[in-house]
Amino acid sequence: MKASTQVVVIGGGVVGASVLYHLTKAGWTDVVLVERKELTAGSTWHAAGGMHTLNGDPNVSKLQQYTIQLYKEIEAASGQSCSIHLPGGLMLASDRERMDWLRMAQARGRYLGMDLEIISIAEAKALFPLLEEKYFIGALYDPVEGHVDPTGVTNAYAICARNAGAEIYRHTKVDALGQRPDGTWDVITDQGTIHAEHVVNAGGLWAREVGRMVGLELPVLAMEHIYLVTEDMPEVAAHVAATGNEMPMALDFAGEIYIRQEQGGMLLGTYEQANVPWSPRETPWDFNMQLLPPDLDRIAPELEVAFRHYPAMGVAGIKSVVNGPFTFSPDGNPLVGPIRGLRNYWVACAVMAGLSQGGGVGLALATWMTEGDPGMDIWGMDVARYGDYATLAYTNAKVRENYGRRFRITFPNEELPAGRPLHTTPIYDRLTEHNAVWGAGFGLEHPLWFQRPGETPVEQVTFRRSNAFPVVAEECRAVRERVGLTECSNFAKYRVSGPGTAEWLQGLFTNRLPAHGRVSLTAMLNPQGRIVGEFSVARVGEDDFFLFGSQAAEVHHSRWFIDHLPAGSPIRFRALGLSLVGLSVAGPKARDVLQSVTATSLATADFPFMTFRRVDVGMIPAWVGRMTYSGDLGYEIWVAPEYQRALFDLLWEAGRPHDMALFGFRALMSLRMEKMFGTWYREYRPIYTPLEAGMDRYLRLDHEFIGRAALEAEMARGPERHLVYLAVDPDPDEPADVIGDEPIWHDGAVVGWVTSGAYAHYSGVSLALGYVPAGLAAPGTEGFEVEIIGHRRPARLLTHPVLDPAGSRMRA
Ligand SMILES: Cc1cc2nc3c(=O)[nH]c(=O)nc-3n(C[C@H](O)[C@H](O)[C@H](O)COP(=O)(O)OP(=O)(O)OC[C@H]3O[C@@H](n4cnc5c(N)ncnc54)[C@H](O)[C@@H]3O)c2cc1C
Repeated sequence: MKASTQVVVIGGGVVGASVLYHLTKAGWTDVVLVERKELTAGSTWHAAGGMHTLNGDPNVSKLQQYTIQLYKEIEAASGQSCSIHLPGGLMLASDRERMDWLRMAQARGRYLGMDLEIISIAEAKALFPLLEEKYFIGALYDPVEGHVDPTGVTNAYAICARNAGAEIYRHTKVDALGQRPDGTWDVITDQGTIHAEHVVNAGGLWAREVGRMVGLELPVLAMEHIYLVTEDMPEVAAHVAATGNEMPMALDFAGEIYIRQEQGGMLLGTYEQANVPWSPRETPWDFNMQLLPPDLDRIAPELEVAFRHYPAMGVAGIKSVVNGPFTFSPDGNPLVGPIRGLRNYWVACAVMAGLSQGGGVGLALATWMTEGDPGMDIWGMDVARYGDYATLAYTNAKVRENYGRRFRITFPNEELPAGRPLHTTPIYDRLTEHNAVWGAGFGLEHPLWFQRPGETPVEQVTFRRSNAFPVVAEECRAVRERVGLTECSNFAKYRVSGPGTAEWLQGLFTNRLPAHGRVSLTAMLNPQGRIVGEFSVARVGEDDFFLFGSQAAEVHHSRWFIDHLPAGSPIRFRALGLSLVGLSVAGPKARDVLQSVTATSLATADFPFMTFRRVDVGMIPAWVGRMTYSGDLGYEIWVAPEYQRALFDLLWEAGRPHDMALFGFRALMSLRMEKMFGTWYREYRPIYTPLEAGMDRYLRLDHEFIGRAALEAEMARGPERHLVYLAVDPDPDEPADVIGDEPIWHDGAVVGWVTSGAYAHYSGVSLALGYVPAGLAAPGTEGFEVEIIGHRRPARLLTHPVLDPAGSRMRA
């Protein structure tokens, strides 16, 4: 065994093996994998081997595509059979909503280069004769679906990695991890200690325990999962004889079942409603290539549906039943990347579909480790999307919810109830009394909209316009014509202070830092010149700043800041969480409301747009910024949480003479679209550059900052694509607005995708933001269409915000 190496990958399942392979492929060959038993001994060996390209997140779809395409390559390079079967797959719909979902999935597939086809149920029956037509109304056919042998795949990765110089130590268990002052690791195993620059936690079923070795509680939980394999079936033999093809795979959403051919019989698995977590607190270390007792009673309701939908299955004998555990994160996507504040500790775990995703996960992590950036948009699986709120019990509730909803639609306006309410601000009860409809982001409850008095505060879930539509329209009108009040605690807030802060931040930000008492907007880039952050920066001292950014990215951004802090620096970086909470007043009467409760002059001459100062509001010490995401005259008022209720009551009373209304996140999204304001995660992500995103006014080349050279090079050659702003004509009979991820068509071809959409209630227009090739973004380009639920709707390119392009309302 080596005494030292560059990387130790902990875990020899399909994911660890893929990470090892991709590290060697990226040129890091002094790398080691340690496995406590045999390769695949965790959840990999008993996987059903199924693989699909579709995923709710288009970027994860891309990784799944990559994974499936990789198998031929590693099979050829290793000489190890992966037993690749690609018979294609059917997704079967039983109702209109699922058909809509399939159409939207097909549309998304268009810009991902996927060849997906909507087919009739008669066509589906011809491909998959076991199904009973009367239970279905249509299907989506994906030619690139199939299954592989999980053990073959793991060994193929391992052989390729070994051939490139990697070493694999089986029967070697990591017992502890110790970090040296220089950030390197002592990996203490039962066979000796290896000193490594980096460690990767690919511990699968034991990822939690490998996390605990460094004091981490990763949000990952194993669930029991059952599939059965039938005896040989004559219907299968007849199909193979007649067509010469294997049966395609089938996903039956209504039945919550997946099916595929396994030799002469069929394999049927289900995500049962009566689901059971496995080892919810601690995974036993003596669990080795074991299965769990088969429990067909638990899946009896799903089996009943299966036998109705596929009658031949009901009479086939059952050859074997597999019940095995595998891991999930709360949203079902993997946890990948470095950990905030823990140098050189990487995770690649909670991979629930290791055969669909393992290749992409390995590629992303290896690229991140070797090049400092994953090289692709992996936001949907970045471990940093969870914060401290994702405790063991929260993870348990969310994973169980997610497992049971695996084959259910989550509508774009749907809020899932498990693990809520958990994280609330002090005015939660106040807003609930005002009939708030709540949503949760990054664990925190925030008001989406306020139902009318006397009506139930519940939103109908739909792909189209919901019961919230007319109510949100009123909220928007209140802001634009009078004044609105909303909670803005769901921003991430940071305080950065101490000697050298200004110089340090300036080296991270594209825009100039603001003067004392002022706010500026800035982007933050990686060395490749891509957007890793977008912030409002408020200066309250020479070396004292507040930063406001996306709450969902709080861990992601603080990881970046902490990683870039100079060693031993006196600079203090703090994520403020709910130690600072906020309310925002916006609208033409906002100044009148706030002025009535403060002695500080808010006249524009004294408190102009983009001012940020300490102000007493009533008796409450607050920081007040003259800014709002609504694009109107407005103020954000930030206070310690113990003052928030008093602040709310004070402002609410002060607003009465002006008929102030509460407004929520939905109205805010409509208002910001009307002003063409982009947002993190949608328009601003690490795959876009600031030139592509139209952030030109955030860029000042009068100082050095990370990513500047790449930005200048891009300025010289021009951006490849550009963010465009479109007015879309919804279907007049069944109006539906753009949500995000819809394809943008031009001249009969898909040229781009939508990042955000909303109905701009005040201006009365349905809007979209999205990316297209730069050549098509020129003003005057005509002929755009956006595909909404299977219908291509005409879209007009706009060059300015539909409301107040000069920004005079904000500055009034
Ligand atoms: C019944 C069933 C059916 C499934 N069907 C499919 C399917 O059709 N398609 C699909 O894509 N996925 C399927 N899966 C999921 C798939 O099995 C997992 O996604 C995959 O196995 C995850 O691989 P992994 O490498 O992350 O974890 P694991 O396979 O659990 O590997 C982790 C490895 O780490 C080792 N390890 C842990 N801690 C240490 C330590 N301290 N020291 C040394 N070694 C350590 C373990 O021994 C283990 O071998 C199925 C799972 C089950 C249970």
